[in-house]
Amino acid sequence: MTDSAQIHFHVPFLTGRERGYIDEVFDNRRFSGNGPFSQRCQRWLEDYTDAKFALMTHSCTGALELAAMVAGLGVGDEVILPSYTFVSTATSIMRTGATPIFCEIDPATMTMDLEDAARRITPRTRALLPVHYGGVGADMKAVMALAEKHDLKVIEDAAQGLGASRHGEKLGNIGALAALSFHETKNVHCGLGGALLINDASLFERAENIWERGTDRSKFFKGLVDKYSWVELGSSFYPSELQSAFLLAQFEGIDEGAEQRASLWNHYHEGLAPLEADGLLHRPVVPEDAVTNHHCYWIRLPTPAHADDVRKQVNARGISVVIHYVPLHGSTMGQRLGWRPEDLPKTVHSAGSLLRLPVHQLVGEAERARVVETITEVVRDVV
Ligand SMILES: *Cc1c(COP(=O)(O)O)cnc(C)c1O
Repeated sequence: MTDSAQIHFHVPFLTGRERGYIDEVFDNRRFSGNGPFSQRCQRWLEDYTDAKFALMTHSCTGALELAAMVAGLGVGDEVILPSYTFVSTATSIMRTGATPIFCEIDPATMTMDLEDAARRITPRTRALLPVHYGGVGADMKAVMALAEKHDLKVIEDAAQGLGASRHGEKLGNIGALAALSFHETKNVHCGLGGALLINDASLFERAENIWERGTDRSKFFKGLVDKYSWVELGSSFYPSELQSAFLLAQFEGIDEGAEQRASLWNHYHEGLAPLEADGLLHRPVVPEDAVTNHHCYWIRLPTPAHADDVRKQVNARGISVVIHYVPLHGSTMGQRLGWRPEDLPKTVHSAGSLLRLPVHQLVGEAERARVVETITEVVRDVV
C-alpha cells in the first residue's frame, strides 16, 4: 500500500548554524554551564517572553521540579493539573511530597477545564498547574482569576508554548513560574534542555540558590559575598554550554521555523475542513484571543475506536500519525494513587480519540498534499 517514501511523524528542527556556536564553546574553553552561551540564552528568553528572569535547565522536567521547590510545595499540599499531560507535570509536584489532583480538559483545545478545576479546590490546594497544549495557551485569564480568589500560586507548563500567547500575553509570562522544554520534539531544542521563567521577582533569589545546587554561589559571582556556602536544599539543574550554544542558534532561527510550521499547519487545517463540515472529525480550536505557535496539528475522531482504525490505516500507507498522552489518572501510577479511569470520562474519551499529524521541516508540498489526501480517504472510509 505504501505509494512513496515514509513520512515520519517528527524530525528535529535545524537551522544549520548550530555547529558554528559549538565551535565557539571550544574557543571559550568553558563547558560546564552558566557560561556566556547559557547567559545569552537567558537574556534572549527574557526579551522574547517578557518574563522577568530566566534560568536555563537540563530539561523541562528539571524546570518543573525546580518550580515546585521554589513554590515551596510540600507534604499535605494539593496542586490541580490536567490529567492529559506528560508525566513530569505530575512527578514534579510529587517530588516535594505534595499531591497531584487531576482535572478534566476542554476537548476543543485539550487544555484545563476551568470549571472542573474550580470544583476540585479544597483548603489544602496550594497551586494550579495549567498545561499549554500543542502551542495553544490554557485560558490563563480564568486560571489567574481562580488563583487570585483562592490565593493559589500558578505554575505554567509551557513546555510546548514558546512563541505563543493568550489574551495578548506571552505564554510563560503569566503565572508566577513557568517551565519551558527544549527537548528535540519541541519547536526549538538542544537535544535535551529547558528553562524556568520567573515572573514573581520575590521568588528569584530562592530560585537561583536552588538552581545553584542549594548554594548562594550566584551572590559570590556578583561579588556580594566573599565565599559561597550551602543555604538550602537544591540540586543540579543547568545544561552544559554545548547545549546552550546549540540552543542559541535555534533561538536565532525561531522565526524561520515558525513560518514553516504555520504554513504546514494552515494547509492541514484548510485541507481537513470538509471532513469537519461533514461531522467526521474535529479540528483543533484556536480561541480568538490566542496566538498559536503551531507546535502540533491534531485531529479528534468521534470515538477512540475510530482513532485506532484511522491510525493503523494511515500508518500502513506510510504516514506516521500518533496518539498523544495516555491520561495520567488512569495510568498504572495514577491508579496506585487511588484514581480510576472513569473518574475523568471526558479526558479519557477525547485523549483516546486524538491523533497527531507530522509537523516538521521535511514535510514539503508533495508530502503535505499526500497527508491530507490519505487522511481524507481513510476517515471517509472508517467513520
Ligand atoms: C515535553 C514536555 C515536558 C517534558 O519536557 P522535557 O524537556 O523532556 O523534560 C513536560 N510537559 C509537557 C507538556 C511537555 O510537552
